[in-house]
Amino acid sequence: MKDFKNFINGEWVGTGRTFEDRNPVDNSLIGHVHEAGQAEVDAAVAAARRALQGEWGRMTTARRVELLHAVADGINRRFDEFLQAEIADTGKPQSLASHVDIPRGAANFKVFADLIKNVPAESFTMDTPDGGQAVNYAVRGPRGVIGVVCPWNLPLLLMTWKVGPALACGNTVVVKPSEETPATATLLGEVMNEAGIPPGVYNVVHGFGPDSAGAFLTQHPDVDGITFTGETRTGEAIMKAAANGVRPVSFELGGKNAGIVFADAHFDKAVAGIARSAFENSGQVCLGTERVYVQRPIFERFVAALKAKAEGFRLGRPGDEGVSMGPLVSLEHREKVLSYYRKAAEEGATVVTGGGVPQMPGALAEGAWVQPTIWTGLPESAAVIREEIFGPCCHIAPFDTEEEVIALANDTPYGLAATVWTSDLGTAHRMGRALDVGICWINAWFLRDLRTAFGGAKQSGIGREGGVHSLEFYTELRNVCVKL
Ligand code: NAD
Repeated sequence: MKDFKNFINGEWVGTGRTFEDRNPVDNSLIGHVHEAGQAEVDAAVAAARRALQGEWGRMTTARRVELLHAVADGINRRFDEFLQAEIADTGKPQSLASHVDIPRGAANFKVFADLIKNVPAESFTMDTPDGGQAVNYAVRGPRGVIGVVCPWNLPLLLMTWKVGPALACGNTVVVKPSEETPATATLLGEVMNEAGIPPGVYNVVHGFGPDSAGAFLTQHPDVDGITFTGETRTGEAIMKAAANGVRPVSFELGGKNAGIVFADAHFDKAVAGIARSAFENSGQVCLGTERVYVQRPIFERFVAALKAKAEGFRLGRPGDEGVSMGPLVSLEHREKVLSYYRKAAEEGATVVTGGGVPQMPGALAEGAWVQPTIWTGLPESAAVIREEIFGPCCHIAPFDTEEEVIALANDTPYGLAATVWTSDLGTAHRMGRALDVGICWINAWFLRDLRTAFGGAKQSGIGREGGVHSLEFYTELRNVCVKL
């Protein structure tokens, strides 16, 4: 039985107030998590402040880079432990976690450590009123103590996507992992100590949102900036907390992403791409597709082909041979997803496949399983077309013209991602500009170059992270003006 403690100032801190961590595959108990209260959050923020003012704050960039490489190497050395911890918390297939979650978790430290060595600074020479000259140059310093609030869908990957650049820029962090997935953030504490990261640079406080560690951290007056990935509604609450003290936020929020398939697309690749974007990680990917629009000449054929793909997923234990879909993250989340399955039926959808709970053998019957599901025939006003579900499901609707599908795709308060399938170069580039999203994939999905800007338009986020764009949030830019 595991015991997940808070990691504060390089040490393990239990509180005695614990909650359960359960495996969604069969609802078995993984262990107990020590919930941080105000006192532990205060201690973590104070430790982060001391580290900033101490050895970490004085460290050369070269040494910091070396240490972050050691963290990445440490994750890779203990790859299997991270893999098993992530799989137990999320139930996701081992094939997925071993190719995406854990390698990207390690890469996030290396990429941003390397980036920080090569960032140019702007410089302007100016004439002065007395006929002389002055030189302006920019200096970047860390923002300070960063509060990092994380979701459960890609726990290590999304947490290190924030912690990697934050530490590379010389900040210190207090991380609040999701209450559903405490394991890998905790394990990372051990790796930080092994790598020689000074105490207080990386802290972890466990707990929930309101009236718990999440709220205590985001309301804390000594936190200099808050970076958050999660639901748009939670972002609103955090933004209100950040208003006290005028602290900046960086938000990666929800989505209701469109997948668009033109009749001229490579058919098999489009079907495979949309199947991935709708069903991978059991649809629990912010970039996933829950609205599919298919040009009318290939509509029927596409629906049949996607149905075959959905029915071809093998549900089962993460490590079992050939398993390609896991459960949802929790029974609670399953209840939310199933409520949308019911709504779709009530609103008159044609259920092409799925729509309920699969029969699972033995202990798995206790897990958070749902069937991959496809609907057609709903009006655009239907709840499953308007609201983010975060499950393995999508609605497919036909369209006729490019203008029509652009209007349909953009008719949402969200603006995170889109995936477009076409073999026409002109269509591809026009769609890339017309869709109101942070990232538009053409003939691809989830293809990420970590140097590029990542974030959401409209209610899908505030700010961009990735590559040099991460510096905007994780550093303070100062101008130094020297009169010559
Ligand atoms: P969530 O918003 O419920 O929770 C995220 C984190 O916020 C958790 O750690 C939670 O404890 C904490 N939290 C909740 N209420 C809080 C409060 N009032 N104050 C402070 N912290 C609080 O999100 P989730 O269910 O864990 O994740 C799924 C959501 O995340 C989806 O909406 C998905 O689209 C979004 N997401 C977005 C991206 C992106 O890059 N845009 C990536 C992954 C997930």
